[in-house]
Amino acid sequence: MNIVLFGPPGAGKGTQAKLICEKYFLNHLSTGDLLRKESSKETSLGIQIKNTINDGKLVSNETTIELIKQFINENKNNNNNNNNKGFLFDGFPRNKKQAELLDHLMESINEKILCVILLDVNEDVLKERIMNRSTTEGRSDDNLETLTKRLHTYSSETEPLIEYYSSQNLVRKVHGTGEISDINQGISSHIEASLNA
Ligand code: ATP
Ligand code: MG
Repeated sequence: MNIVLFGPPGAGKGTQAKLICEKYFLNHLSTGDLLRKESSKETSLGIQIKNTINDGKLVSNETTIELIKQFINENKNNNNNNNNKGFLFDGFPRNKKQAELLDHLMESINEKILCVILLDVNEDVLKERIMNRSTTEGRSDDNLETLTKRLHTYSSETEPLIEYYSSQNLVRKVHGTGEISDINQGISSHIEASLNA
């Protein structure tokens, strides 16, 4: 099964993704992590990615999709780990073009998206979380200026995908504040309901 974890920056996608992947034996595909890894290289592509991330914008679809294809190829037949029951997409897709590409990609490997879990968190909480995280994780895009741009990018380019997936009846909204374990429970209930539908 393949799941999309959806939500604004700071919604808790990374935290919940890990828990879901452990529980359902999924490969965790985080485009943010893949791009950060690539951007840590001192190549011209790495520097370009870093600048885009720090500017709160989306990295080009070409670069993002290339990294995804690589990841899927490396992991789809990976029987050396237990996580071969499918993919959990964290932070992808982020615009319409990416959503369409994901549909094609799924089709080409004879797979489907089971559901799109939308982590719902209001903007004040997002800001508070990311400013807290900036003191511990030291991500270069976790500062007020970049965050404002990331939130803007989310509402203009990414949020419209809720409509795209709602029309396919795939969206499952989960309240994203409170205890991590309670949120996880909410996500699990939706996954299991979708599996049994
Ligand atoms: P959080 O990790 O708190 O959920 P986030 O969703 O903003 O916050 P990441 O998903 O790690 O963080 O993404 C960080 C940055 O990487 C984004 O702001 C964007 O510049 C880039 N990025 C990540 N995923 C994509 C994508 N699918 N397409 C284009 N750029 C992306
Ligand atoms: Mg993340």
